[in-house]
Amino acid sequence: MDDFYRENILDHYKYPRNKGELEHSTHYHEEHNPLCGDIIRIDLHVNEQNVIDQVAFSGKGCAISQASASMLTEMIEGKTLDEAKSINKDDLLESLGIEIGPVRMKCALLSLKVLKAGAYGLSEEEWNSDEDDW
Ligand code: ZN
Repeated sequence: MDDFYRENILDHYKYPRNKGELEHSTHYHEEHNPLCGDIIRIDLHVNEQNVIDQVAFSGKGCAISQASASMLTEMIEGKTLDEAKSINKDDLLESLGIEIGPVRMKCALLSLKVLKAGAYGLSEEEWNSDEDDW
């Protein structure tokens, strides 16, 4: 089963879903993970029904960080902003499906951090003070 997940991560890394930037985003946010050099930016377009009808990510870094961002964009496309806010670490780690050690955890969760900060419209400092909650 582990092989399936590893393949899936590599597939998302090689062929990222929703890669790019939106021309008209309603929310965007970017963060980096200095430990590994990963950078993730997520752009959202939320329509009048509060649904994320377009999502894109951009950035660079290790396979785990980029694959998790790609998976996360698939998870939130078509969801409401509130549903996207309710996605937690466990949901994303479940999609990744492999055991993530403490060093890689920041890589794996960078995209979620970006999404949450962007969706809540928080600045980086506000977000960091909140870190325990997510
Ligand atoms: Zn990384």
